[in-house]
Amino acid sequence: MSELERKRKSGWESINSEDLEKNIFEFSNDYMNYLNQAKTEREIISLSEKIIREHGFKSIDEYAELHPGDKVYFINRGKSMYIAVMGNKSLEEGINIIGAHADSPRLDLKPNPLVQEGEFAYLKTHYYGGIKKYQWTAIPLALHGVIVKENGEKITVSIGENEGEPVFTITDLLPHLAKEQQQKKLAEAINGENLSIVVGNRPDANDEKEKVKKYILKLLNKKYGITEEDFISSELEAVPAFKARTLGLDESLIAGYGQDDKVCVYTSLRAILEVENPDRTAVCLFSDKEEIGSMGNTGMESHVFDTFISELLNKAKINRPNLLDKVFCNSRMLSADVDAGADPLYAQVTDHNNAGLMGYGISINKYTGAGGKSNSSDANAEYVAFIRRIFNQNNIQYQLAELGKVDIGGGGTIAYILANKGVDVIDCGVPVLSMHAPYEVTSKFDVYTAYQAYKTFFMN
Ligand code: MN
Ligand code: MN
Repeated sequence: MSELERKRKSGWESINSEDLEKNIFEFSNDYMNYLNQAKTEREIISLSEKIIREHGFKSIDEYAELHPGDKVYFINRGKSMYIAVMGNKSLEEGINIIGAHADSPRLDLKPNPLVQEGEFAYLKTHYYGGIKKYQWTAIPLALHGVIVKENGEKITVSIGENEGEPVFTITDLLPHLAKEQQQKKLAEAINGENLSIVVGNRPDANDEKEKVKKYILKLLNKKYGITEEDFISSELEAVPAFKARTLGLDESLIAGYGQDDKVCVYTSLRAILEVENPDRTAVCLFSDKEEIGSMGNTGMESHVFDTFISELLNKAKINRPNLLDKVFCNSRMLSADVDAGADPLYAQVTDHNNAGLMGYGISINKYTGAGGKSNSSDANAEYVAFIRRIFNQNNIQYQLAELGKVDIGGGGTIAYILANKGVDVIDCGVPVLSMHAPYEVTSKFDVYTAYQAYKTFFMN
């Protein structure tokens, strides 16, 4: 029986054992270590594959048949993945899905990125996802990604993360000469076309024109064996070169790039590693392209996830026409995506009573959307009651939140995509400050709580 009045309290105030405190800090260290090894969707997928294989998961191709307790996964084009632990009950009775996204806002290189302007060689970019452009200038950037040559040979690139490697940056105007720029609207002060990364300033003495660009091309050819045309079939992403670090004198927070949504990727990954012989099949998925609308063959809107579940049905030897639709209608999902944490410096955008407070536990969004819940998947009260019950029974500290005040803005997640297939879905993730900035902030208490919440969901 709950108390008459619902009171909210920071999770740090309710920590009643040294063990719990130790677990929170240890878990956060593991999480920061994970963030520092993987900054792009491709890196997240390959690192996560390495981790799950160490825990006994095998690719679906390695199984002829699937039985309760089997641990299986599928990777889609190196950018999204689905992980399952087969349940004791038939898949027909429904599965428990947790879905996060591995992509984060960043600056993608253009197909023909290398130019010389004045005395500089630049790589031109086209930003990916919703960014505030001014935040991406005058910070250290690293380049990550792949270059695929015409013959199919793939070169993996990572420059700017390790000591001794160069970094990159986008220059900005000095305040002394920025009188006109400073009068512009924030959204217009930096032109998207000007998000060009400095890569060189040294002319090649043996060349005639565009000497700085030529010098860079020669270096790239020497280091990677590539020519300028090879950029066409590359996917190179400029990301902040900073490391994830503990934030604050009390060490209660984490600052790092890409926590939207790698914080939910990591916490749900850790949760599924601990799932053994569940009643209902547990599925953890990491999708791609969420930040640009979930389209394409690695985004959640594609049918590749359906194909994976169909393959589970095939290999469990129970498939029949239309069974997949029934599986989805009997399934439950947590759409594991970050929530806007309430920021006291910008208190005017949130309704405090309906906002995710940092350190107050995992944030549940019954619906997202904007201005009249437009385009959102609104979870049923019955399903919210179920989530509330299992969280309360397992001492999971949670809060119900909205993404900002009613008419202020809003956003979306992958929740509606699975809901449209008939799954009961609710958004449930970690509150974040400075979301989509190069350096995002989370609370260690909330990160640990997400992991506990996801474990609880898988086992119920
Ligand atoms: Mn997100
Ligand atoms: Mn986002």
